[in-house]
Amino acid sequence: MKLIDEINKRRTFGIISHPDAGKTTLTEKLLLFGGAIQEAGAVKSNKIKKGATSDFMEIERQRGISVATSVLAFEYRDIKINILDTPGHKDFAEDTFRTLTAVDSVIVVIDVAKGVEEQTEKLVEVCRMRNIPMIVFINKMDREGKDAFDLLDEIEQKLHLRVIPLSFPIGMGYDFKGIYNIWEKNVNLFTGDPRKDIEDTIEISDLSNPELDDLIGTDAANELREEVELAQSVYPEFSKEEYRDGQLQPVFFGSALNNFGVRELLDCFIDIAPSPRPKESTTRVVHPEEKDFTGFVFKIHANMDPRHRDRLAFIKIVSGKFERNVPYLHVRQGKNLKFSSPNAFFAEKKEIVDVSYPGDIVGLHDTGNFKIGDTLTQGEELSYKGIPSFSPEHFRYINNADPMKSKQLEKGIDQLMDEGVAQLFRLELNNRKVIGTVGALQYEVIQYRLEHEYGAKCTYENLKVHKACWIEPEDPKSAEFADFKRVKSNYLATDKRGQLVFLADSQFSLQMTQEKYKNIKFHYTSEFK
Ligand code: GDP
Repeated sequence: MKLIDEINKRRTFGIISHPDAGKTTLTEKLLLFGGAIQEAGAVKSNKIKKGATSDFMEIERQRGISVATSVLAFEYRDIKINILDTPGHKDFAEDTFRTLTAVDSVIVVIDVAKGVEEQTEKLVEVCRMRNIPMIVFINKMDREGKDAFDLLDEIEQKLHLRVIPLSFPIGMGYDFKGIYNIWEKNVNLFTGDPRKDIEDTIEISDLSNPELDDLIGTDAANELREEVELAQSVYPEFSKEEYRDGQLQPVFFGSALNNFGVRELLDCFIDIAPSPRPKESTTRVVHPEEKDFTGFVFKIHANMDPRHRDRLAFIKIVSGKFERNVPYLHVRQGKNLKFSSPNAFFAEKKEIVDVSYPGDIVGLHDTGNFKIGDTLTQGEELSYKGIPSFSPEHFRYINNADPMKSKQLEKGIDQLMDEGVAQLFRLELNNRKVIGTVGALQYEVIQYRLEHEYGAKCTYENLKVHKACWIEPEDPKSAEFADFKRVKSNYLATDKRGQLVFLADSQFSLQMTQEKYKNIKFHYTSEFK
């Protein structure tokens, strides 16, 4: 098959949601459609349960699961679908942000009763900023929840999306009768039988058809007619281009647990979701159909087995063909590497593959060459942009608790940071190391892993920091910048790439500093050039 055909048959996406909205359940049902798994319960939930904060075995178990569910690939209607796993727990949000740099589209799952929740807002914002095409799936229609129009309003307002319902529910909760599929123009009646994996749909191309009254009763039929008419008058018309530009978001309703409305979602997804998209690099935009291979590392999994220092670097292929045993340029290190056993992922299995194509994810065994964001090419000096670090929310000094093991600690911290577990800053003032994380849980993960994987012990000390801002002076030689560095020297640090970071101790002091130094920019992410 030609490269272009391989590209066109791939869809690489992520499912994002607030924990418990139904991401795992939906993933599983999608895999069932692909025939990739045989039974329900086969997909393991990759989430840290509430209250498991100090349960280290739980964390370890989760790490095992998260390799297994990192990429779930299957075929459906001749399309190769790669689902990239995104942890829902907020303490692992950075991991999700990075994974979002490797997807070509996303499905957002929302619980009909809870509506838009905190994590949904954060994750959708990242997708919106990157114009990633999004489809919304409103889940748990078998339960009492919010009114469909209210929920659509809420999505528009809180998530700043422009929605268009492509299906519409007929009742909900106890009265849930099914959905009208606006996209396919048919009715799918809800029987509440989750074993039924192929649904019977009834063509109703014209809603005035009296057959509808026979199916769901006159009252429900009339209500549906009114609602669909209203929906069609208030919401924009569907446009594939606008959806693909991230300007319009189709909405589906259903119940993942009951495998209801999932087929409609998947069929529409196959029709409209983009195949692998071009990607911007430091020098130019790279198109998937280019002959030469390029790809980038978006995730690293280290030390699954502490006895072997093995790491798996996950590469998203952006262009060309990736082949086993062919040398590729590791751009940051300026050296050629080849890989004898690249892993590809199928449902929950991984196997060695000879060739992979744009949109695919390969797992490369690594002995410490890769960092998140590294680019591999066939010789061209380019690097992919778009794996930013975000300002962490928590900051702590990290201290060595066992002076005999300082080398091990150094190495452990280095590798865990390469893996993207947290961010390391070094204070200019005293050269001390500060670990910044998105969630407090990360500190326990780091401490546990340092001890069990590197034999090093650490303690933490709190540090009062409100936000870390990456500093960009308009003129690095200006007197203003020199003054800033002198006055704020106690609050300055460098990140792992040597970029200058201002650790503001409060919102107030950040504001004052910004007002005082007008020609210095304060960025909340490390990627601003
Ligand atoms: P995740 O945290 O987003 O991965 O959510 P899960 O898929 O683990 O689902 C959370 C809970 O909601 C589980 O108990 C599911 O059985 C339940 N659930 C998922 N989908 C539905 C649905 O359509 N209806 C109902 N009633 N429950 C559901």
